[in-house]
Amino acid sequence: MESESVLGFLFTVNLLFGLFAAFYCSTIAGKKNRSTMSWLIYGFFLPAIAILHVIIVDEVYLGPRCQYCIEPVNAKATICPHCQSEHPVAQRAYAGTLLEG
Ligand SMILES: [Zn+2]
Repeated sequence: MESESVLGFLFTVNLLFGLFAAFYCSTIAGKKNRSTMSWLIYGFFLPAIAILHVIIVDEVYLGPRCQYCIEPVNAKATICPHCQSEHPVAQRAYAGTLLEG
């Protein structure tokens, strides 16, 4: 009986941690314009990995970013897919050329 209650306790803690991770990941993912539902499921089943993953996702991106909304964009994009601004990357390069003379 003793080990059953310990197992029950561990199961409850694990379940609560999974639920916490699920909602935490889905909230952060939503703020980063990512699928909240897939991060909810991911967070519930792999809580420890998903929490770390959702924090670093997009943060390690070193490519071109939109100069208006700072979201990652394709270097050749003429319109930012996030904020619909024109020439999100090209204008930054042009401004840099102007500043350098
Ligand atoms: Zn943008």
